[in-house]
Formats: sequence, C-alpha cells, structure tokens
Amino acid sequence: MTNSVRTFAELWRELEPLGRDPGSGGYRRYSWTPADAQCRAWFTRHAEDLGLAVEPDNNGNLWAWWVPENQRRAGAIVTGSHLDSVPDGGAYDGPLGVASALAAVKELKDKGFYPERPVVLAVFTEEEGARFRVSCLGSRLMTGAIQPDAARALSGEDGVTLATAMSAAGFDPGGLGPREDLLEGIGAFIELHVEQGRALAPLGAALGVAESIWPHGRWRLDFTGRADHAGTARFADRNDPMLPYASTVLAARRLAAERGALATFGKVIAEPGGVNGVAAKVTAWLDARAADDEVLGKTLTMIRSAAEIAAGEHGVTLAVSRESYTPLVRFDENLRNRIAGVLAAAGMKAPVLPTGAGHDAAILAARVPTAMLFVRNPTGVSHSPAEHADLADCEAGVRALALVLENLAGSR
Ligand SMILES: [Zn+2]
Repeated sequence: MTNSVRTFAELWRELEPLGRDPGSGGYRRYSWTPADAQCRAWFTRHAEDLGLAVEPDNNGNLWAWWVPENQRRAGAIVTGSHLDSVPDGGAYDGPLGVASALAAVKELKDKGFYPERPVVLAVFTEEEGARFRVSCLGSRLMTGAIQPDAARALSGEDGVTLATAMSAAGFDPGGLGPREDLLEGIGAFIELHVEQGRALAPLGAALGVAESIWPHGRWRLDFTGRADHAGTARFADRNDPMLPYASTVLAARRLAAERGALATFGKVIAEPGGVNGVAAKVTAWLDARAADDEVLGKTLTMIRSAAEIAAGEHGVTLAVSRESYTPLVRFDENLRNRIAGVLAAAGMKAPVLPTGAGHDAAILAARVPTAMLFVRNPTGVSHSPAEHADLADCEAGVRALALVLENLAGSR
C-alpha cells in the first residue's frame, strides 16, 4: 500500500480485501475487531493524505476535517457513511459512501476548490448493529438517542460488551455520550449510499435522491418451552417452542404483506440446540418496516397477537421486547431541492425515492439538515455478497457528491 491519494477505483481496490471472508466472499467487518481496525486505518491514511485532520470522537466515530484557514468549525458540510457490515454483507453498503467522500474531496482539491466553510468526512461506528444489536449506534450515541450506560452494557453473541470490545481495541468507552458541540457545528449532512432495492435501474438513472426512510425496528421474541427427548416424548406431552416460532414466521409474512409492510425473521437461536431433542427455548429476531408509523404499529400488534396465540396453543411462554425503533424520517426539503438543482444543472438524472433501509442519516436528520444520494444497484440485492454497483455509476456518484459539496461549502 502506498501513501499517495487515489482515484475512486484505486481506493476501492485497496479496501476490497479487508474483512472479506474467503469462504463466503461476504464481509465480516464487525465493530472493534481487527477487520474494523484495518478499515479505519485505510480511511485515516487516505484522509490524512488529502491533508484532512482525522479525529476519532468519544463515541468511536471518525471525523476528517478540511477547515479553511482562519475559519471556525461552524456550518460544516459533512459527508460519509459507515465501514462496518452485516454478517457476510456486501462490499458497497456503507463503504461506498466513505470511499466516494474521499474521492470527492480529492476531485475538489485537484481542481483547486477552496471551501468557505469546513468540509468534513465522517465514518460512523456500528451502523449495522451486527455485533451489539443496536443499529446506528455511533450516531445514536452522538445525538443522545441512546444512554451511554445502556450502550456500554450492550453485548453480542460472544457475550463481550461494547465497553470491553472498545477497551480491547484501545479505545476508552468511559467517554461515550452526546456531542452537542459537534452537532452544532454541522450545517448539513449528506450520506451517499448504494441503493438497496431496485428502483433506479428501471428508471435508467445512475443516481437517486432520498425522500424519506420508512420507520423500522427490531424486536426480540423469546419462546420458552421445555426440553424433551425427540424419540420418547409424545407430541401431546411436548411444550415445543419451535412450533409457535414457525407459525409466527408465516403469520408475520402474511400480516405484513396484507398491509404493504415488510417483516423478516433473519436470525434464530434454538437452545440447547440438540438435533435429537425438543428445544427448551427459541429466540428469534423480527425486523419490521412500513411506509408510516401507524401501519408499522398495527402490523406489529397483529404479529404479536398471532405469536401469543400460537405460543398458548403449545404451552409455551412468549416474551417480546423491542430492541430498537426508528420513526419515519423525512429528509430536509430545502437541502433536497438544492441538491436536485445542482445535479440537474450538471445534466445528471437523479429521481427522488423513498427507502425501507435505515441509515445514520436518519438519526442525524432529527438534528441537522440531512440528505441522501443513492447509487444505482442493478440487481437490487443488498446485505449479501452479491451486492453490486457498476464502477461507472460509482464514479457518477463521486462526481455528484463533489458538485454538491462544492455548492454547499463554496457559496453563501
Ligand atoms: Zn448502510
């Protein structure tokens, strides 16, 4: 690895192998692991090569500042995304926004642009919640949407708490907490992200601008029954938690579909996990999303009652707890119109789209004017090793982001 600042394609080539599992081809870039540290080092090195001052904040997010001479850190135009992944995730979700931000700043520096207000690149930690089960943890901590004590105690499958994992990575978890000063210094936040879903391809557009983010949440369902022998326990005598779990999966799909919502069980743990035994307990996680909070609330109530009925039929107890919830987010209309104007003036087609995916931008939108740019995903597949964006579209994204930063940071 050399130290010279690169084109998007070169930045990308360097980042691509980090944290990729050779077996699945998917990424396992979990927060505060060696793979995460490699990704952070990649960002830090390239941001510093661009002359930016890289500063990790108290919550583990990274900020790279391009501050005009004699200027205060006020009205900053911030762009960035995240570098962590879901288990066996794709290459683009998150990193595309970070690599594009670096490449856009390089483009601006190459053309001799000088900002009138700070341009800042941000990398948010634990966006996917893959390790500690709360999505957008870095931006939630920064905005005060989660309490520091609650965050420190979060743990994943390995039982390691966030506090322990951060300490092991050489980072002090004692300082977690809101950063009003940082938030007050932000004039706008723009997150560029690979499209999740397939709306742009049929429109023949390489780029899109976000309108809103569907409300979404995660719920944990604990079905507790009684362990028994698969060969000797009669059906009538069993309290098998797998059965109400199975009916709940099917009910969730049907109830969500009836309301135009989405409901997904993507993770389940059966304990003790013997092939020749009735499970004692099944823990499952439900991800649900809908066009508005009311539809989502209704869908959840229906799924929950279907689960309770099924549990009752099998003498199984059910506990449901909400692990996270993000209400409907509408992005700043003025900022969106300004971005649309910049792109239209450059002859770039960028239709306005809603999305069902959560992002740090959704958390920040509650506090600062926020916008999102999407880069076309030709198959629509995301959270999978098959996730893809064409290089030409990624380069169009970099160009669009550079134009937007130039407009927002360069004129009054
Ligand atoms: Zn993402």
